[in-house]
Amino acid sequence: MKILIVEDEKRLADALVQIFTKNKMTADTSYNGIDGLDNALSGIYDVIVLDIMLPGMNGIDVLRNLRKDGIKTPVILLTAKDEISDKVRGLDSGADDYLTKPFATEELLARVRALGRRSATELVCDDTLSYSDLSLELSTYTLSCKSNSVKLGLKEFSIMEMLLRNRERVLTKENLLVKIWGYDSDAEYNNVEVYISFLRKKLGYIKSNVSIKTLRGVGYSLETK
Ligand code: CA
Repeated sequence: MKILIVEDEKRLADALVQIFTKNKMTADTSYNGIDGLDNALSGIYDVIVLDIMLPGMNGIDVLRNLRKDGIKTPVILLTAKDEISDKVRGLDSGADDYLTKPFATEELLARVRALGRRSATELVCDDTLSYSDLSLELSTYTLSCKSNSVKLGLKEFSIMEMLLRNRERVLTKENLLVKIWGYDSDAEYNNVEVYISFLRKKLGYIKSNVSIKTLRGVGYSLETK
């Protein structure tokens, strides 16, 4: 399970990363609302833990923008004080749960697990990402166009999923590297390029009219020909 923590109290954010990691989950952090929104828009997370009081953009606005963009990742809001108005605004804006600080980490873990399970079930019901004549079956890693289909490897699948969730938007190589390989991996841009070329071959093989465009020096986007 992959968690995004958007929290400007660095000590708390880092402590949460440790707790999630100890419980066999992966966690990324953003320390302000703008980075948080940017990361959350990638659509690769199973659960987002979102503080309300944040520099740059507050948690409620992050959440509103996220839902406006069609990202349905479950969100747990963290409220600094037991304020009814924050909770109501949060739930109105599309939050799935909230927790008042200070909270017991066990409670946060339990709620994250519950939301993660829910998002996994939703993925099974809504198993396919589609764009133009292309579809990606999330449970089997199968990329199809009409009657042609091909299996993807795990890395290829993760990249294609990210491209599809961000179709017609440019993903930088750095973005892909960090999201797919992780912050502390030894992978380089070269690794990204290799997997993009594998995916291009597979798109050609199934004769899709969707292609991965290169923006020289910037990154990639999924477009129709
Ligand atoms: Ca805060």
